[in-house]
Formats: sequence, C-alpha cells, structure tokens
Amino acid sequence: MSANTAMAERYRNNFLKEIEEQVEMGDWVKMCMQCGVCSGSCPTNFQSAWEHPPQELFMMIRAGRREEVLTTTSMWNCTSCYNCIVRCPRKLPITHIMHGIAEYAHRLGMAPKMQPTRFFSGLFWKNATKTGRVNELKLSMGLYFKDGFVQGIKNGMAMQSVALGLVKAGRLNVMELFGGHKCRDQKGIQAMLNKAYEIERTRKAAKMAG
Ligand code: SF4
Ligand code: SF4
Repeated sequence: MSANTAMAERYRNNFLKEIEEQVEMGDWVKMCMQCGVCSGSCPTNFQSAWEHPPQELFMMIRAGRREEVLTTTSMWNCTSCYNCIVRCPRKLPITHIMHGIAEYAHRLGMAPKMQPTRFFSGLFWKNATKTGRVNELKLSMGLYFKDGFVQGIKNGMAMQSVALGLVKAGRLNVMELFGGHKCRDQKGIQAMLNKAYEIERTRKAAKMAG
C-alpha cells in the first residue's frame, strides 16, 4: 500500500485532521477566518497566478478536497516573502504552512513532478550536499538540460553573454565541471547529513505511525 493510500484510508473524510497531524504548522489552518488578506497581499499571486491562493487552499482543506490540494502547483509558488504572515489578522504562519503542505505532497508522491520549484529544490539539494558547497556550473547545467539535450543547448546559447560576464568577473569557473570547490572536512559534512537524515526519518516514521 502506498503512503498516499495509507494516509487517505487513515484520515478518510477528515482531511483537516490529516493536515493538522501530518503537516508542519498544519494545526493553524482551522484559525483562518477567510478574510482573503493573504491572497490579496501575495506578490506571486499577481493577476491570480496561483491556481488556489492561500485563503482558498485553507478553505479547500476544511472542505476535504484532498486530491486537489495535494496535487496543485499552488503552494510551490511561495517565495517566503512573509508578506502574508505580517498582514494576517489571525497571525497564521502561512508561509510555513505553504511549505509544509508542499513537503507533505512530495512525501506522499503526489506533488507535480516537473513543477520548477520542486525540480530545482531537488537539484540544489543533491548538488550542495555532495561536497558541502554548491557547484554553480553543474547546478546551472542541470537546470538548462532538464528538458533534454537540444533545449539545454538552446538555453545555454540564450544565456551565453551572462555566462561570459560571470567568467570574466571571476564568478564562474569552467573548471568546476571537473570537480570544483569542496568543503575541507568531507567526512564531517557527510556525518552531519547522515545524522540529520536519521532524525528526520525517525520524526516522519513517528508521524506516519501516528
Ligand atoms: S489573512 Fe489569515 S485569516 Fe485571512 S484568509 Fe489569510 S490566513 Fe485566513
Ligand atoms: S510568503 Fe508565500 S504565500 Fe505569503 S505572501 Fe509571500 S509568496 Fe505569498
């Protein structure tokens, strides 16, 4: 049984409870009074760019619209600007809830696979944790070539003047392709990450088990 099926079964007809128990800061959702200030203040919701802005997502959670909430791209649009948190009359930690729902959808395997923020987050994490330092050249190439080789070349050509400028300014080194900067204590970095993974695994297993 998949994690998603198990959770849908466990919280049948009570999506709000599922969000409260499984999503970081999810227990705040019930405090929303649907004033719409967050949605109206969100700079990334310009011209209604979000499929479901925060206030609407909170309404949908309470209405039990599980599939729609967990598969939408909406919460992935949040840039953590904190405008909504500052203005919410009920002081909901909206930013954190947005990231919490996104993380939960990802954990259940329901997040839209090629959503750019989700894709970039994964790419960045793998890149940064390999040596403890970001290899900017490989990170950019991973992003440019995400839609295939031909599109990658086109993206590279479109950005060549920017890349040349960065190379001239000493901000991009083509030799990074063959290795690049590393943190000095590689073993220490990996030990720290393994410990963090272990803590996270234990925390998530406890949440899943209830
Ligand atoms: S500003 Fe706060 S209370 Fe108003 S809709 Fe948004 S989350 Fe709900
Ligand atoms: S923190 Fe996220 S949801 Fe809140 S206003 Fe900024 S972009 Fe919008």
